[in-house]
Amino acid sequence: MMPPVVRFAPSPTGRIHIGNARTALINFLFVTKDRGRFILRFDDTDLVRSREEYALSIENDLKWLGIVPDAIVRQSQRFELYDEAAEKLRSAGRLYPCYETAEELERRRKRQQARGLPPVYDRAALSLTAEDRAALEAQGRKPHWRFLLDHTIIRWNDLVRGDSHIDSASLSDPVLVREDETYLYTLPSVVDDLNLKISHIIRGEDHVTNTAVQIQLFEALGGAVPVFGHHNLLTTVSGEGLSKRSGALSIGTLRDEGIESLAVAAFAVLTGTSDAVHPVQSLDELAADFNFSHVSRNQAKFDPAELKSLSARNLHQMSFEAAEARLAAAGIEGPKAEPFWMAVRGNLEIFADVADWWGVVTGEIKPAIEDADFIAAARETLPAEPWDQTTWSAWTNALKARTNRKGRPLFHPLRLALTGREQGPELAGLLPLIGRAKAEARLSGHAA
Ligand code: GLU
Repeated sequence: MMPPVVRFAPSPTGRIHIGNARTALINFLFVTKDRGRFILRFDDTDLVRSREEYALSIENDLKWLGIVPDAIVRQSQRFELYDEAAEKLRSAGRLYPCYETAEELERRRKRQQARGLPPVYDRAALSLTAEDRAALEAQGRKPHWRFLLDHTIIRWNDLVRGDSHIDSASLSDPVLVREDETYLYTLPSVVDDLNLKISHIIRGEDHVTNTAVQIQLFEALGGAVPVFGHHNLLTTVSGEGLSKRSGALSIGTLRDEGIESLAVAAFAVLTGTSDAVHPVQSLDELAADFNFSHVSRNQAKFDPAELKSLSARNLHQMSFEAAEARLAAAGIEGPKAEPFWMAVRGNLEIFADVADWWGVVTGEIKPAIEDADFIAAARETLPAEPWDQTTWSAWTNALKARTNRKGRPLFHPLRLALTGREQGPELAGLLPLIGRAKAEARLSGHAA
């Protein structure tokens, strides 16, 4: 079998959000398993709304998620292919000119609705004679062009939804070319899918109706029809769709908030499936966990609070090897880096919190002395170095015997004096990193 070829086809008119990431990732995971190709296609035929800065941000956001495309194509550079295809359809009688204005169409739709009829285009333009058309053009009217659907039941076997069908008689012949000769999304999409030999079209279920039309277009252009899969859409907790324009839940915002990219990926992919959303440590792991047949037919509701907690859980399980380069970039290197990571990871909400704890371990803090006599006793009981993970319990056991304290009255003043903080990682891990000299100074109430 040929390796699969998929594409992710955003229009660069805004930042991508977690719902777009869901589509991109599902495509990417699908081909990672089988060593296929992932093509990033910018649907930028709308030259006014498309912007280079958005194309760049989309590439960056995908990269952050771990997706590097095998190729990038831009529809704005491929108009010749679309012109050729339109010509082919015209000569086959499948693309016909229509002269109705938007207002005329709207009036017709209202009349149909009033009569309880579906608002489907009545194909009136098909009965125009050459003279009719010439007369309309003499009035200055320009045609838009519709694809003549073949009225049948269009069927496909959907990767997610199984056997699917749409009666094309319930659809209007879609407009492929506007009055000003620009293309709507449908034709360029199919032309590119053919030209780039896309084997699987995986996208949101908002495209199901497009699929029916596009299957006929693939056939009319003489190409093989790809396999289709339509996944459910992510919505807000209250069930609203996510919007590219609002910028809310954009990948860029989540990254700026310190959410882990692998948490975004796991969340985007596993929400709305029968698999529990769980932390993963690589996209390969996520690829192995993802299964089309587990994708639900219901909306996938997105709760940002759950994403945050998933991101934290991701950090809590992250190996030192996975964190090492990022720690180094934050100036956390050397022999202490690994024990430091193992000591603090379980307390992180976001990765950037490491800077604070590194400061506690290696920098200077102002200790908080809550109970001077007790802390003096603690200082006197400090064991000699070398220190390791067992030092803390040896020390606090000795202190317990000497002072008869246990529980919070024993531990809390020590934490305050040693770290200057009310809460934090286990002191058994921190203490050997802080070291005896610093610990002694802090227990003496000195900034150290
Ligand atoms: N540009 C289209 C969109 O973002 C692509 C849809 C498709 O995958 O065909 O909705």
